[in-house]
Amino acid sequence: MKTIFLVLFCTLFLVGCFGKSAQKNLEKEPSIRVCLTQAVNKENTIETTGEYTILNHDGSLVQEGKKLEPARLMGKEGGIWLNGKKYLTERLEIKNQGNALIQVNGIPYRGDILCLMDGSRFLLVNVLSIENYISSVIGSEMLLSWPESTLEAQAIIARSFAYHEKANQKKTFFDVYDSTASQAYKGASKENEKSQAIVRKTRGMILLYQNRLFKTFFHSTCGGHTANAHNVFDYYDISPLSGRECPFCKTSPHYSWAYTVDPEILTNFLKDRKIPPPFQGISIEKTDKAKRVLSLKAFFGNSQTCSIKASDLRHDLGANKLKSTLFTMESRPEGIVFEGKGWGHGVGLCQYGAKTMGEKGHSSLEILTFYYPSSQVYRLWK
Ligand SMILES: [Zn+2]
Repeated sequence: MKTIFLVLFCTLFLVGCFGKSAQKNLEKEPSIRVCLTQAVNKENTIETTGEYTILNHDGSLVQEGKKLEPARLMGKEGGIWLNGKKYLTERLEIKNQGNALIQVNGIPYRGDILCLMDGSRFLLVNVLSIENYISSVIGSEMLLSWPESTLEAQAIIARSFAYHEKANQKKTFFDVYDSTASQAYKGASKENEKSQAIVRKTRGMILLYQNRLFKTFFHSTCGGHTANAHNVFDYYDISPLSGRECPFCKTSPHYSWAYTVDPEILTNFLKDRKIPPPFQGISIEKTDKAKRVLSLKAFFGNSQTCSIKASDLRHDLGANKLKSTLFTMESRPEGIVFEGKGWGHGVGLCQYGAKTMGEKGHSSLEILTFYYPSSQVYRLWK
């Protein structure tokens, strides 16, 4: 009896400790809110390719027309300015009528645009159906010339990621960013017939683990071994995100790299972290089983040391320079030389590896179960 209770308790704890249950089918495709910008005092241009209406916060009509010619849009001094006219409101909604596209700063978007003032922030948020959103994400994240099964896998995990963010979102005004802070999204400029066909084929499909949503992280190139999400993001240590060997990304242009840093830049990095000079040196402190660096040890002052997270160093030096945390380091006359493998945080699907798997004839399901072991594809809406 005691054993049964213990097993039951452990199961409940395991199931309850991450993600929301996604067992219920949705009757309708959800929408998603994508933050395009949140800069105050920045002048944006907005125009439409067809009929539109602009509504005030209370739903009253501000403006309508057959086509909005390029207009200046910004938020400042507690109001929203459109073509030099100030509206004393915290919210305007630019609604697309029919199949028109709304161009924001030269990029065409499907759906509607919300203009929101939030204290000192001015947000432009694109609200559209999640399937239209995914059609753009596939082309923004990968080349549409890549194998279909690879693009299908990307569609399923991009939809899972977006739906997870929507279901768990703590942000009041939007669900995801339009950049790699969430996933890349460049509006209708990155769609074509192939991306739309892939979206139709995978419609409503998401990835689950033990019938729960989880954050389907992905990245460009793992460099030979994917990373454990718990080590990188302090995320739940679950099978699909535990890290595994990847023999498929050797042909990636980002498979290996080198980056030389002037010691002075590292000294400034340490100063910014309140570590006082003189700076004596830095070395690798802790790695995971695949030799991905977790932390470094900095030596300073009179034999003092402190630990630094490798992800913090990467963030501060620039994620496009120190391309991953799978590196070795050495002090040479020209500076501190990092030699590394891969590009990105390394968690979940390796995009270049998935490309090779597609080229070798693997299905999207095989790609997904390789990179997210023990996960299942589930159709949440039809
Ligand atoms: Zn890889």
